Amino acid sequence: MTSNELRQKFLDFFKSKAHKILPSASLIPENDPTVLFTTAGMHPLVPYLLGEKHPMGKRLANAQKCLRTDDIDEVGDETHLTFFEMMGNWSLGDYWKEEAIKWSWEFLTSKKWLGLAKDKLAVSVFAGDQDAPRDNEAAKIWQSLAVSKDRIAYLPKSENWWGPAGKTGPCGPDTEMFYWTGDKKAPAEFDPEDKNWVEIWNNVFMQYEKKLKMQNAELKNNKEEYEYTKLQQRNVDTGMGLERVTAILNNKKSVYEIDAFVPIINELKLLNPDLKEREMRIIADHIRASVFIMADRIEPSNIGHGYVLRRLIRKAMRYARDLVPLAKKIMNIYGDIYPEVNNAEIIKTLKQERDKFAAALEIGLGALKALASKKISGRQAFDIYQTYGLPLEIMQDEVKVNEKEFKKALEEHQGVSRKGAEKKFKAGLADHKEETVKLHTATHLLLSALREVLGVHVKQAGSNITPERLRFDFTHNQKLDSEQIEKIEEIVNQKIKSGLQITCCEMLLEEAEQRGALATFRGRYPDKVKVYTIGDKVSCEICAGPHIKNTSELGKFKIIKEESSSAGVRRIKAVLE
Ligand code: ATP
Ligand code: MG
Repeated sequence: MTSNELRQKFLDFFKSKAHKILPSASLIPENDPTVLFTTAGMHPLVPYLLGEKHPMGKRLANAQKCLRTDDIDEVGDETHLTFFEMMGNWSLGDYWKEEAIKWSWEFLTSKKWLGLAKDKLAVSVFAGDQDAPRDNEAAKIWQSLAVSKDRIAYLPKSENWWGPAGKTGPCGPDTEMFYWTGDKKAPAEFDPEDKNWVEIWNNVFMQYEKKLKMQNAELKNNKEEYEYTKLQQRNVDTGMGLERVTAILNNKKSVYEIDAFVPIINELKLLNPDLKEREMRIIADHIRASVFIMADRIEPSNIGHGYVLRRLIRKAMRYARDLVPLAKKIMNIYGDIYPEVNNAEIIKTLKQERDKFAAALEIGLGALKALASKKISGRQAFDIYQTYGLPLEIMQDEVKVNEKEFKKALEEHQGVSRKGAEKKFKAGLADHKEETVKLHTATHLLLSALREVLGVHVKQAGSNITPERLRFDFTHNQKLDSEQIEKIEEIVNQKIKSGLQITCCEMLLEEAEQRGALATFRGRYPDKVKVYTIGDKVSCEICAGPHIKNTSELGKFKIIKEESSSAGVRRIKAVLE
């Protein structure tokens, strides 16, 4: 079975169980400053998992593009990629454990679907602790499906619990499915430590809310204490790795041997026959991830998403200078499924980055040599990286570098605290603070003012909101002058003063387009969408929300910065005072 066939089968299966199929969201989370990339299928659905009504209903499924930079050191083993596709099904306050588990089992084992051998499957469930009891409910359902007791492992929070990303929020136990990939017969007893058991699917049951116990916080010397209460809306959130399951269905030991990787690896063998197996895997993974990041309109840079992209590209270029033929293969493989990868800009960007990298290598290596030392400090390494773009890995080929110090300097530069960087992944709770919601509404007003002052060619090219400020990228070729900036501020502030109502309606995408609602992600919306309108069509946008009720709640709008973001794209940072 090919990966395309498996993707389709999964969606067909859940369609047959009355699920609606969503398109994949972007790899770049909208309006969520807590994470750089989408790391799981649930991530774009967070507002709905928190109780907001989804326009397509309570049963959803999709294939979601995911990127986990946290897994980068594992890349090249049998099962880890940075970019992968996660197949997911969700119940938003609808079905519960019994249906979720039975359907996972049916899809995996029924001859009509995947027909995997039952005696090669094992599961884990939450063992229970002081916060929440053992998940006997899940274990019983597995047993009712004839999964033997020896194939059910009970594991602690560290393994079988999801969330919350922050200190409080929805959370719950999960149950995971594993497949035996060893050469010998699968042992009767499931040992989660044995690497031959590969995790393929995870079902999360959100049933609790983690809350702060206020009185105790005061009593116990500011030591925060939490309690777990039952959640009003219980949700199911699942994730199955497309590449891992494709490998298993084809009796392949590694995800790098599946149909979606073979053309890339073969091309690499042609380009450079001396590469070792692990090197080939790393290049193939990194270029694939890079193509998908660029397809979501990120360009290499020294900060944020662009920094991750540049590192992936340059790490791959270390082994294969010309990534263009590989990128073309990837565009071929995925073009039908993810049309955004069919973008000539990707090739252009890769060529530019190749040339920049060649220059960086030459001058950077020269600078490194000029230090005339076999061991350099992290500061020195960072300065060379910062000035010439020479990657750490390449410096390490030449000299010894104090890596800890280098990373510290880099993080300082990027303004990301260590904790922030670690929190980035597995997180995913979008920020619904009042300040953030207000800035989100201000973003809609800003776009409408930009179009009024600069022209209707202005389209949203990116948005990122923290509780402190909004950041908005839009298509426009020229720097804004101070008069234009003042005008824009004036228009937005005038709309705020007018106290305009914000209304939300659900409608078919077609209807929304007919009404002239602005759509940022053409071709990526579900059939039914939410349209937020401010006043009498001051602004009308397809958007997931949330928004405030009336513009009078916003305060004073002020643009604090206007700069270039990338070719043809300007960036505005603004605040509400
Ligand atoms: P592992 O412990 O094997 O890294 P995980 O616990 O991080 O897996 P989840 O966060 O539960 O995995 O993700 C759901 C599913 O997504 C997994 O069951 C697996 O099939 C797939 N998956 C997770 N991480 C990766 C990865 N780096 N590459 C490919 N597939 C992955
Ligand atoms: Mg993992």
